[in-house]
Amino acid sequence: MKSESKVRMTRKKKRELEKTNTFKELLKIINSCFKDLMPRLNQVEDKRHQSYIEYKPQEILYVMLMAQAMTVGTMKGVTGSFNTEICIENFKKIFKNEKLKEIPHHDTINDFLKILKPKELEKIRKYMIKEIIKRKTFYQYKYNNQWQVIVDGTGLYYFKERHCKNCLTKRYTNKKTGEEEIRYYHNVLEAKIVAGEFVFSIGTEFIENEREDITKQDCELKAFKRLAVKIKKDYPRLNICILADSLYANRPVRKICDENKWGYIIRFKSESASNLWEEYESIKKIQTSQSKAFEKQEIIRPKGKAEIKRRYKWVNDIMYEEETLTIIELREKVENKEKSFIYLSSKRANKNNIEKLVMTGRKRWKIENEGFNIQKNHGYNLHHLYSKDTNAMKNHYLIIQMAHMIRQLYKKGLKKVKILKNSIKKESERLLTSLTSKVLTTTELLEIQTAKIQLRLE
Ligand SMILES: [Zn+2]
Repeated sequence: MKSESKVRMTRKKKRELEKTNTFKELLKIINSCFKDLMPRLNQVEDKRHQSYIEYKPQEILYVMLMAQAMTVGTMKGVTGSFNTEICIENFKKIFKNEKLKEIPHHDTINDFLKILKPKELEKIRKYMIKEIIKRKTFYQYKYNNQWQVIVDGTGLYYFKERHCKNCLTKRYTNKKTGEEEIRYYHNVLEAKIVAGEFVFSIGTEFIENEREDITKQDCELKAFKRLAVKIKKDYPRLNICILADSLYANRPVRKICDENKWGYIIRFKSESASNLWEEYESIKKIQTSQSKAFEKQEIIRPKGKAEIKRRYKWVNDIMYEEETLTIIELREKVENKEKSFIYLSSKRANKNNIEKLVMTGRKRWKIENEGFNIQKNHGYNLHHLYSKDTNAMKNHYLIIQMAHMIRQLYKKGLKKVKILKNSIKKESERLLTSLTSKVLTTTELLEIQTAKIQLRLE
């Protein structure tokens, strides 16, 4: 009987929670975390012909930001989903603009994004990131007093015909016809802070060719050099540790990290620098034969699951060419399957820090899961071509990064949202329903304006 009533209580509570005006909660999170967002959206450099202007920059950008935070998914969806009298009424109140007759049409939004410089949105993202990292709530996720920043590239769009002068190109042989064909791409390199469950984009560099007739194409590593300059400029005192895959296990990358006083934990593959690997193996052999000070073992027995055997080894101070390097290694065995994780680490390893170092290195997968995967496959529609225009494409990408930041704070920082464990899609529907079917009252608007939310993190 007791458990039955408990279930009923939960259901009742759930029903009550489901009734929350979620749009109001979303605005509270935005206002509480990013108080100056709205005025900043209005301060972007506006290159439009001033005599034809119907909407202020903030009205266009905020509508698009809300559409992405609600994972509307297409440009027509923005116009379609927001097309209710109540929705217009709500935006009137948010923008304090009684004259607002309609939500900006998707063509109007795209026309604006075609001429807006992406650096204007990057400035706003920088403001948002700075607001987040100054919140003490997130300090718990730093390691060695450093923020962990994952760097990774991904493909955004591909075309069969040349799309613009900046497209990357790739030749390949068509298996059916045997003919050589060219494909056209747009890729991006991202730097994201990973803080517990949160993944926040702090820097973006588009991988693209300057013009058509180049001899060597742009690539992820070239983009990293540019991205590093941007990050250092935007966050000069930010103490960070770069987490990256084995593509980055090379000297130029380490040099950039050293010069910027950034730490690094970079995946290492023995075949990528075989001399270094041999050096590591030979020192390890000597170390292991002499003492147990450079290795550690642990066995984990999770309830109802197979036991996990972990063996850590490391070598500090490997003299390699002109560098002194540390390599850390984990061999993990579950049943009969063994996986190895090997990293180059800027920090020397010891028995006390080895597990944490390896765990930090392994966080790299987060950008795939929480970052790119969610943005691509769970509503944000990152692959979708919101505009064919190269410049607008970049702005859409940046708006998605900001919207994802807001949505994560909303989902993971608000207890009443977190507790429901709704899917992204379901929660988006709730947000959209709130926005388009409930007019915000004066009391609610006041509540939004004065919101001071203590983020509830685990
Ligand atoms: Zn292109």
